[in-house]
Amino acid sequence: MLGMIPKMQGSNKALIIEERMLNRLREKGYKLTTQRREIIRILAGDSSHPRAFEILQRARMQAPSISVSTVYYTLAMLKKENLIHEIEFYDRDNRYDTNVSNHLNLICDRCGKVEDYRDELSVLTKIIAQNSDFEPFRFRLECYGFCQECRKHL
Ligand SMILES: [Zn+2]
Repeated sequence: MLGMIPKMQGSNKALIIEERMLNRLREKGYKLTTQRREIIRILAGDSSHPRAFEILQRARMQAPSISVSTVYYTLAMLKKENLIHEIEFYDRDNRYDTNVSNHLNLICDRCGKVEDYRDELSVLTKIIAQNSDFEPFRFRLECYGFCQECRKHL
């Protein structure tokens, strides 16, 4: 579909993201426990922008003793190191995105599906710079609508 970020070979892309995250945390001196590594592996391989409880459920399949606080603590650590982006909602569960570059998230208002839309923000950056005395470098931008599946049920 025009404008959608092309999907790289799934597992290859996941490995690249996972390595990048692990290397950064190693450099920063974080302890890479089995539980943290499992959470990172799940995030790296999941482009659906999972919720914290979904990460917990999946992590428990490999590490049954993992707790909800470990998941939240690890997510906070990754967020602090700018390795994930947290999509915050006031009326539903937050979602986590390993794509930390400037991009637009397309959010289905019915089923909550979140998809990445390729970077059109460079265009917006130029327009703002031309029309104001402000130099933008980061955006918080979300687009709400209905996904293809949900449009069939409207
Ligand atoms: Zn939907």
